Amino acid sequence: MTEPIDGAKQVRIIEHIKEMWETVMDARKNGRSIGLVPTMGALHRGHLSLIERAAAENDVTIVSIFVNPIQFDDKQDLGAYPRDLARDAASAAAVGANAIFAPSVSEMYPDGFSAYVDMTGISEALCGRVREAHFRGVCTVVAKLFHITDPDRAYFGEKDAQQAAVIKKMAADLNFNTEIVTCPTVRDTDGLALSSRNTRLDAAERNAAPCLYRALNAGAALFRSGESDAGKITEAVRAVLEAEPRARVDYAEIVDPASFRGVPKARSGDVLALAVYIGAVRLIDNLRL
Ligand code: AMP
Repeated sequence: MTEPIDGAKQVRIIEHIKEMWETVMDARKNGRSIGLVPTMGALHRGHLSLIERAAAENDVTIVSIFVNPIQFDDKQDLGAYPRDLARDAASAAAVGANAIFAPSVSEMYPDGFSAYVDMTGISEALCGRVREAHFRGVCTVVAKLFHITDPDRAYFGEKDAQQAAVIKKMAADLNFNTEIVTCPTVRDTDGLALSSRNTRLDAAERNAAPCLYRALNAGAALFRSGESDAGKITEAVRAVLEAEPRARVDYAEIVDPASFRGVPKARSGDVLALAVYIGAVRLIDNLRL
């Protein structure tokens, strides 16, 4: 017998796939709808906005917290990733999470694990081009989480616009019966998109980091003024970033929102996407033109 997760006052932390399955099956038997918010933890207001939305739209909200090793190309980035399960569980519960799924690496990837989800096309641009096997890791873990939690809806942030688009395509192509819901980017008062990686910025780097949002806005303003040449817009974006000595541009591109391929002429609805190192920390952000 598993305890019911809906209506529980205290959030349940579930570490094993079998227990998660049983819990989901119980909820289903009782006719409950299920919302899933996949995260890597170190929860901030951006994550909490996804959890709130899931809690408003589903009977049961599951938050997964798993720092997925196979999506990291940089082992130092993986090692430095902030982790605090007790704090995360409390903040997720406060905004309506019913269960936290927090498996170990060996629970998700036992010895001999060898099935991966590889997407072509959309996942080869931008972050897929510069971070080898990143989206293979993301799609594999999300596909597993969908099988484990059987969600009606799964919630992703527009901050990771390419990731949300890749997951939508994967869910459609592999016939997952899950609606992919995207939620707006939550920012600090100075425009910096909230990210778990922001905690790794020192004070000077934190001061420098809003240059991403300033650069995006400079590009968007140029587009609104009538410029459509993608090269000229990204040049203006780069100029803002290059004026900040702590910033090093990884990419600055205007892409089609469906294919994430670069466009020569920007159109309304295209995505202006950035990846920028501030010191050793790689931050991404984007804006819809
Ligand atoms: P992560 O823990 O970084 O893998 O993020 C988990 C989910 O939260 C992803 O769908 C992200 O896009 C989303 N997310 C991260 N930062 C923000 C933000 N500032 N605003 C909205 N959603 C976010």
